[in-house]
Amino acid sequence: MKITTKIIAVLGLAFGLSEAAPIDDIGALSVQGTQVVGANGQPAQLRGMSYYWSHSHTAFPFYNANVVNWLAEDWHVNLVRAAMAFETNAWNQELDKNGYISDSSGTILQAEAVIDAAIAKGIYVIIDLHTHWANDNANGRWDKAADFFEYMATKYGQYPNVIYEVYNEPGTDTWTGPSDWNPIKPYLEFIIPKIRAIDPDNLIIAGTPAYSGNLSAVASDPLTGANAVNVAYAFHFYASTDDHLNRLLPIAKSALNTIPIFISECGLTNADGNGSLNYNSINQFWQWIDEAKLSWAAWSLSNTAETSAALQTSASTSGNWSESDLTPSGTWLRNKFREQNPEWTPIRGDSPGPAALSRPVASTSSFLFANNTVSVNLKGQSKVELLDLQGRTVRTLWNGNANGSVSLSVSTQPGIYLVRIQGQGVTETHKVAVK
Ligand code: MG
Repeated sequence: MKITTKIIAVLGLAFGLSEAAPIDDIGALSVQGTQVVGANGQPAQLRGMSYYWSHSHTAFPFYNANVVNWLAEDWHVNLVRAAMAFETNAWNQELDKNGYISDSSGTILQAEAVIDAAIAKGIYVIIDLHTHWANDNANGRWDKAADFFEYMATKYGQYPNVIYEVYNEPGTDTWTGPSDWNPIKPYLEFIIPKIRAIDPDNLIIAGTPAYSGNLSAVASDPLTGANAVNVAYAFHFYASTDDHLNRLLPIAKSALNTIPIFISECGLTNADGNGSLNYNSINQFWQWIDEAKLSWAAWSLSNTAETSAALQTSASTSGNWSESDLTPSGTWLRNKFREQNPEWTPIRGDSPGPAALSRPVASTSSFLFANNTVSVNLKGQSKVELLDLQGRTVRTLWNGNANGSVSLSVSTQPGIYLVRIQGQGVTETHKVAVK
């Protein structure tokens, strides 16, 4: 815990608030044996919400900092999951946008709104490539997936908040075991090294057969070597689906003897996202989750017309929801988070807040920070400055005319800084970690 955070935590306690932000409390995640642990080696149990498919009009208006802040402050989630659609013609019928393959920059911008807000808020965020077909390498699809995660690892690999989920739910569902797992494994063995070449340590969640439901084949033939370092396997369940409770849950319990598990998606309803809530079944799943100290994200933060959606159509797209804005599923989940996740002061102490984490503005620049070097496209009179977290200028990196890409090396004390870019009437600021 940082000293500034400690002071704020102590002041918070004095005023009836509580602990430090989750990221300062738990820290960088890793896998030890079959357990996901925090920086102090203790089991890290994260609980939060998964957004619905990013390209659905029932979800994308909620991909913003106000909603992330509300989820953290009112629901007490310490985890959000950005479910970024890969394909356009995907599962759901409520498409209003393209997925990453057709609209890479739009999908990136949408994800960044959630990721930046989660980092600023001090909670964890799963960057999820939401697809059922990532193992199909037609038309350069693997390279496209690699582009997505290389960008994210370059921009966010320095933040312990970030978890990569490289394949939401493989659509292999012959349910026979190895024949389901064998087609998935080569994709995982391709994509994991792409991330590790840039970010050696952040947690990765690997998709598993039968829509991340059947861990049988994975448990007997897991990833090995460097591909297994800080990697957990997805287990997705829906409590009202009998087969999940009676068949897949016992398989998962047994698999946990040999592989780490992260429940990156689960629901109180049927597996199709609809149907009734079966509270008896729900409690059996959550008893296991808490005994095993597993992390979970619930489906879905959206106002989709199905019972697994947490929000009614009355819910504002900027948070501040009343109880009547929540569905029965949303109400159960909010109560669960508030009961189980410690309350914490919303003040981080070392964060510039969401306002300082604005998105790249395409007209002036595309921002990249790697190897202590800022790479940015500038046009006309521009100024690039390195600021400390109090907004004081540490260095002016560029002040003059430019037309195109410039690389500006940063040399200063290691730490977290802001890079502010001004030009063409636009100001944007990015948080960076100088090493
Ligand atoms: Mg890292």
